[in-house]
Amino acid sequence: MNKNSIYEMMGISPEVLAFGENVLAEIKDRFDAIDEMAEYNGLKVLNAMHKVRISEAHLSGTTGYGYNDMGRDAIEEVYAKTFHTEDALVRPLIACGTHALAVAMSGNLRPGDELLAISGKPYDTLEEVIGTRPSRGSLAEYGVTYAQVDLTPESHFDYEGIKAAINERTHLIHIQRSKGYASRKTLGVTEIGEVIAYVKSLKPDVIVMVDNCYGEFTEEREPSDVGADMIVGSLIKNPGGGLAPIGGYIAGTKECVENAAVRLTSPGLGKEVGATLDANRYILQGFFSAPTVTASAVEAAVFAAAIYEKLGFKVIPGSKDPRYDIIQAVTLKSPERIQAFCKGIQAGAPVDAHVTP
Ligand SMILES: *Cc1c(COP(=O)(O)O)cnc(C)c1O
Repeated sequence: MNKNSIYEMMGISPEVLAFGENVLAEIKDRFDAIDEMAEYNGLKVLNAMHKVRISEAHLSGTTGYGYNDMGRDAIEEVYAKTFHTEDALVRPLIACGTHALAVAMSGNLRPGDELLAISGKPYDTLEEVIGTRPSRGSLAEYGVTYAQVDLTPESHFDYEGIKAAINERTHLIHIQRSKGYASRKTLGVTEIGEVIAYVKSLKPDVIVMVDNCYGEFTEEREPSDVGADMIVGSLIKNPGGGLAPIGGYIAGTKECVENAAVRLTSPGLGKEVGATLDANRYILQGFFSAPTVTASAVEAAVFAAAIYEKLGFKVIPGSKDPRYDIIQAVTLKSPERIQAFCKGIQAGAPVDAHVTP
């Protein structure tokens, strides 16, 4: 059976197939550039693994307290060397991205401090962490206040607004790289670096934390290469490479990472404890694959953008725009189309394809 008849058997008509293949041909140069990015970032990870002298013993984990978990400690070194930070906390005990961000913020803020978000409203789940939506255990309950500066209508940092918002209590600045569920543009590492230099010129000791979720390995540099004190993300997204079964990371200065570690486990224990069970192998394998897995996600996003542009829908970013995360927004404009889209994606998935969402 040839490829085309397998597609037809799976419900993809020859017309749809030809349409897709024409679009693919048009974006070929773009894919070449994305593959180059995967190669560059793959080299960064491989080089870090060599420097840390990863060996077979690092692939197994511990139970119980997790003292002297060689694999865990080596993985944290690999992350730190890849992202060019002093230290990193990479743990299966971190449940998800929201948890990683909550640990990073609550570990580094004290009562009376102010948290300042300068890329507008943070990701939805952080509203309860910060307390902008009243919630049990929020930072607000612990006496941490919150201020926010929105991006300009063109999705750039509002320098005047930032200058006016920084005060003697401003202790931690939050920047979100990816657009998340917002319809703004995603922020590139260069632009993030410029604003970090600016806020540090106004207040040298302020901590800058970048929510790096969905952004890892989409550019040659990470926000930690341009002055961020902490970058934070989820292993269920890019850096897990689809293999890490759980986990999150915080990479940054020794001080920031240690502050987060004592919040994650306990004061006095910090990074010393935290068993990894069977996760080390998958966390390491996933990180090794992450640059190529991320690149294929970016390619799928560009492909989707090109397809839907041709069909007359509004897409953010456009197929020719630069990419700083793996997110693609398409405005489908009717509930029926959203349902049809979700059914189509589900029907093509490797798991639960027989289920109608
Ligand atoms: C996914 C995401 C989060 C939260 O991560 P979860 O793993 O869903 O808790 C935070 N910020 C951004 C930008 C994200 O994309």
